[in-house]
Amino acid sequence: MDPAVSDERIFVIVGASLAGAKAAETLRSEGFTGRVVLIGDEPVRPYERPPLSKGYLRGEAAADEAFVHDEGFYLEHDIELRLSTEVTGIDPTTNEITVDGEERIPYSAALLATGAAPRQLKVPGAHLSGVRYLRTMADADQLRASIATANRVVVIGGGWIGCEVAASARQMNAEVAMVEMAELPLERVLGPELGRFYRDVHADHGVEMHLGVGISELRGGSQVEEVVLADGRVLAADVVVAGVGVTPRTDLAQQAGLAIDNGVITNEWLATSVPNVFAAGDVANAWHPILDRRVRLEHWSSALNQGPVVARNMLGAKAAYERILYFFSDQYEIGMEYSGLAVEWDQVLFRGDPASREFIAFWLNSGRLVAGMNVNVWDVAESIATLVASPGHVDPTKLVDPDVELSSLARESA
Ligand code: NAP
Repeated sequence: MDPAVSDERIFVIVGASLAGAKAAETLRSEGFTGRVVLIGDEPVRPYERPPLSKGYLRGEAAADEAFVHDEGFYLEHDIELRLSTEVTGIDPTTNEITVDGEERIPYSAALLATGAAPRQLKVPGAHLSGVRYLRTMADADQLRASIATANRVVVIGGGWIGCEVAASARQMNAEVAMVEMAELPLERVLGPELGRFYRDVHADHGVEMHLGVGISELRGGSQVEEVVLADGRVLAADVVVAGVGVTPRTDLAQQAGLAIDNGVITNEWLATSVPNVFAAGDVANAWHPILDRRVRLEHWSSALNQGPVVARNMLGAKAAYERILYFFSDQYEIGMEYSGLAVEWDQVLFRGDPASREFIAFWLNSGRLVAGMNVNVWDVAESIATLVASPGHVDPTKLVDPDVELSSLARESA
């Protein structure tokens, strides 16, 4: 690339998130010498979210462990990091971004890494103080303080936030109840077999599980005191934490006329329907060439890995984002990694006994391996991802046989 040309370009990244920060870093590591503007509405520099429901929430991990880069990184790399700043418009006809309603910044290419916002509870009493959501570092700070003084924490939602916060709150010695509309926690993502596994893990750690029931009301004076379940039961609560899913933050994209469908639609290069505008992270509903469908991946690893790919594409490459989805979760002494994406499946196989809490689960659809999850078994996630990505069928008897190394199976299939 001609450096003289690159010097004149301006890349604007909307969202000082993990995806945004990795994109900015990659623009520089690829040798780009023009302006890089990284804009975020939070007052702190980009950070990773996984610790917010785990060690950081419990006060065991410092903020420094969550930040994507050292404080001096952005200055050293001449990245204009603008915090507490709101991007209020994108004009694809003039290729300009409006900041705080007035300042205009021209762009050669723009990246939308605006993430997602927690869905809000809609029941009466949802406005009471003590009703909390967990998305930002500031949310985690407030929640840590609330849990520390709470006797009873009620977690609404048995998804990833609900499960990880319930585990952390128990580890912080609070009494915890979980309310989930489905019959099992994590059932929508993991299915009934693994949902039962996590239900038992939480019950064994003393979480009071209220499954297959929603909530009808939150009650209290100014402070929440009770959660009323849809079947009329009443749970005492000092703190309520709602983890009932997120909505992609698409307002800017919508105003700019980008194609939207469950997030900002992109092709496999993370390019949106509008020239020179890209999207990455939780907000991007991106075409995945291996899965042969669009997916919007609300997980840390997608933000981490899409950032560099989209940066290269902003510089003119045509690199497809085709990584196999990966995420992890730590709840109490149970650590797991999940690789692949099981949307539909007709078989779940186990290598090892879930009762031992050291096992690998495999999801198959019409004989094809679509996902695998290792629980307290390590150094296998890469092999599982290779097996998921391989076009052929994996012999199920080998998958479940602990004497067959997954790495050798992966080598055979690659
Ligand atoms: P989530 O994983 O989508 O789970 C939301 C859960 O709340 C679902 O089980 C949902 O049930 C349930 N729910 C919805 N409305 C409810 C209600 N009124 N009463 C009771 N239950 C209700 O979302 P999340 O836990 O809020 O997490 C937010 C995002 O952060 C997600 O994208 C998640 O992937 C991500 N995250 C990831 C990790 C990780 O990778 N380890 C950790 C934390 C957060 P239905 O399924 O029946 O709707």
